[in-house]
Amino acid sequence: MQQLKNKVAVITGGNSGIGKATAQLFAEEGAQVIITGRRDDVVDQAVADIGHGAIGLVGDVADLAHHQKLADLVKNRFGRLDVYMANAGIINLTTSDKVTPDEYDRHFATNTRGVFFGVQAVAPLIRDGGSIIVTSSLAATKILPDHTVYAGSKAAVAAFARNWAVELKPRKIRVNILSPGPVETAILGKLGVSEADSPAFERHMASLIPVGRMGLPEELARAALFLASEAGSFVNGIELHVDGGMTLA
Ligand code: NAD
Repeated sequence: MQQLKNKVAVITGGNSGIGKATAQLFAEEGAQVIITGRRDDVVDQAVADIGHGAIGLVGDVADLAHHQKLADLVKNRFGRLDVYMANAGIINLTTSDKVTPDEYDRHFATNTRGVFFGVQAVAPLIRDGGSIIVTSSLAATKILPDHTVYAGSKAAVAAFARNWAVELKPRKIRVNILSPGPVETAILGKLGVSEADSPAFERHMASLIPVGRMGLPEELARAALFLASEAGSFVNGIELHVDGGMTLA
């Protein structure tokens, strides 16, 4: 049985990595999927790859008008939303002494403000009993080198999600946090690690993870499906760490 049959699901940053794998799985499970992303060529390609009538919307989550455009699209085409996954995010590793105000603002504009105002814009469209998933990070709870600003931006969205789980109680909307550990996606190429150092960096990351390897986007997608579907119908306000046990190591 398809677990998201006839559901309407939005995944921000759904053109790449964890978001794209989730959009693919949700579509295979019967959902009408709407993905967002920054680059139109990448969004177009992802829509073609996902198939199943997926829809793409190009925009920047730091731009509040983009969220309104998305809400209008959902309202006009479908009248309601069942699942909203606030997943778009960026990272740049730097020690705190080197973080510029621009770099700080860029992280919080995308990872934090983008999540807050995205949820604010679509919340009225989410049907009672629907599901919101916020992608945070292992870095929000575990101290990792050079992650300070990113960690702060991701800890904030975990706090938002816990508050929303209670605020949205009258509408029985479940709000959960998906916290990935290191996952093999394009974001790893944006950490500031050089291409030459990348294999050694990935080996080092894998050595820190009890299961002995980094995660795959599809593994995060399956966790998101659990949170979005009836399988997680009594799961609300949790932080689901999908990190091969790295939180503990
Ligand atoms: P990715 O780079 O493959 O995907 C990031 C997505 O976010 C892309 O679709 C990109 O277009 C979108 N995005 C970035 N900035 C945006 C903006 N301003 N406006 C609109 N869209 C924007 O990386 P990923 O690993 O799939 O990351 C997905 C989420 O998972 C992010 O929030 C990331 O912080 C989080 N995360 C990833 C890892 C990991 O190791 N890959 C670990 C912990 C948390």
